[in-house]
Amino acid sequence: MNFHVLTLFPEMIRQGMNTSIIGRAIAGGLLSVDSVNIRDFAFNKHQKVDDYPYGGGAGMLMQAEPVYLAWESIKEKIGYKPRVIYLTPQGKVFNQKMAKEFAAEKDLVFLCGHYEGIDERVLEEVVTDYVSIGDYVLTGGELPAMVMIDSISRMVPGVLTNKESGETESFSGNLLEYPQYSRPEEWHGKKVPPVLMSGHHANIEAWRREQSVLRTAKWRPDLLKQADLTNKEWNQVRQWKKQWREENSKE
Ligand code: SAM
Repeated sequence: MNFHVLTLFPEMIRQGMNTSIIGRAIAGGLLSVDSVNIRDFAFNKHQKVDDYPYGGGAGMLMQAEPVYLAWESIKEKIGYKPRVIYLTPQGKVFNQKMAKEFAAEKDLVFLCGHYEGIDERVLEEVVTDYVSIGDYVLTGGELPAMVMIDSISRMVPGVLTNKESGETESFSGNLLEYPQYSRPEEWHGKKVPPVLMSGHHANIEAWRREQSVLRTAKWRPDLLKQADLTNKEWNQVRQWKKQWREENSKE
């Protein structure tokens, strides 16, 4: 899968994407991350890419033409119009389901804004998806692009080894992942739950499923509505909730 990042700060992307699992996948040819400097497409004296917004107001805006030409350079290179994601706090909030969907693309373009954002007209012409990484405002789109590239890459076949499989991770099936433990068996007086030492695979699976449901009910109850729970599990969730309400009212 090929990621193309339209940015004013290509070195940020290059430095940020070269380590760990993603770096390994790039070295192994499973992924490529190509940063395109929008400034290279500003054909004026000082390679200026920003200007004042019409109507006044705070800050500067990225101008339409350099962004358009940078996008065209990618389109010409790959020979078709790829999906273009504009990172913006105004977009749909990114989640694991979207990561999975984007991972099916051959090429994906990320458009990183800066200053107060980008002239609306070029967004209308090139952007296919408006995506936010959360309800807060950052200085630029580079960190959101890297967050998305990291998480999308984990969904690309072959990027994670079997041992690192993403299938049981948090948000698969709209549940959070169960708690995990490694050696030693006892640490600071806390023992590993005995079921995990039992070698009984069915019991371990059942315990992990219950812990996933419990943790999601406690920390992210909003996810549960879309999780595929059995009637027995829903009854259990109701019981836990009742118990937590009683505990809270005692405090
Ligand atoms: N004036 C813009 C607004 O109110 O929507 C915010 C501009 S922000 C300072 C500059 C750039 O950072 C944006 O164009 C966008 O590319 C990026 N950005 C900021 N917060 C973001 C978020 N939560 N998710 C994705 N991108 C974000």
